[in-house]
Amino acid sequence: MGNKALPSICYDLHSHSTASDGVLSPTELVQLAAENGVDVLALTDHDCTDGHAEAAKAAAVASIRFIPGIEVSVSWRKRLIHIVGLNVDRDYAEMQHGLSELRIKRERRAEEIGVKFEKIGMPDVYEGARALASGVLSRSHFAMYLVEKGVVKDLQQAFKKYLQQGKRCYVGAEWASLEDALSWIHGAGGQAVVAHPARYKMSRTLFREFLKDFKALGGEGIEVACSSHNLQEATQMAGYARELELLASAGSDFHSPHNNWAKLGRVHALPEGCTPIWQAWD
Ligand code: AMP
Ligand code: MN
Ligand code: MN
Ligand code: MN
Repeated sequence: MGNKALPSICYDLHSHSTASDGVLSPTELVQLAAENGVDVLALTDHDCTDGHAEAAKAAAVASIRFIPGIEVSVSWRKRLIHIVGLNVDRDYAEMQHGLSELRIKRERRAEEIGVKFEKIGMPDVYEGARALASGVLSRSHFAMYLVEKGVVKDLQQAFKKYLQQGKRCYVGAEWASLEDALSWIHGAGGQAVVAHPARYKMSRTLFREFLKDFKALGGEGIEVACSSHNLQEATQMAGYARELELLASAGSDFHSPHNNWAKLGRVHALPEGCTPIWQAWD
């Protein structure tokens, strides 16, 4: 019997460009995706769709399919959760209005982070981070600046020492509600996906409550295959997807070619029994 496997399509449905905290321009990102064998790429910058037009153009040249996406910062019971939107229409005014408010909050938060650094004797960190951001200003830019200045050895160290919750220069904020984020994504014709679900450090009970809220608001999917998941976590997320009848997504959360654990297009296959989010796409 001819048992040849069908040629599999490579999906990477979570990535960043210089429109937020990625280091490649949308064009460079798409070119690297094509080089790495990605067939379908979603650009999901934080709280912003400014990279879509350029990425769509580059994808047409590179003959890969471009999925316009977004990664919305959400506060759910005081926790920061990221919700990816796939196939969103960037012209949907309510979404753009909501995203612009999030970007204003980001600016305010960045200034406050700057003040915290000033207070511990590093007055130039805000300006330094700002200069590194060509789009949405993120904690990543603070981390990049600290690495550049030799204050820490890598980005993770910067978060661990200064920028993550509970650390000296962390500043909290009230981001979008889950309800608003989903209504923007759905209003823009997209599907909502829980980003890197294993990263939230919630108990199983709490995480199930979150997923139930998400599902009740019409949330469609959950990232099962992603760079920050090990095999056990991917299997666990596949279990939640089956239990709650959520679709499974796959994305690298690529930010930079220098990052060894999140390579563009290098995402594990979905475990058996998952229904891929792209199943119903034309
Ligand atoms: P923000 O959206 O401005 O709060 O920044 C969050 C971004 O920082 C995430 O999207 C990641 O790109 C990055 N980030 C968060 N935690 C870490 C970490 N421990 N190491 C490296 N980057 C991180
Ligand atoms: Mn990021
Ligand atoms: Mn994220
Ligand atoms: Mn991301």
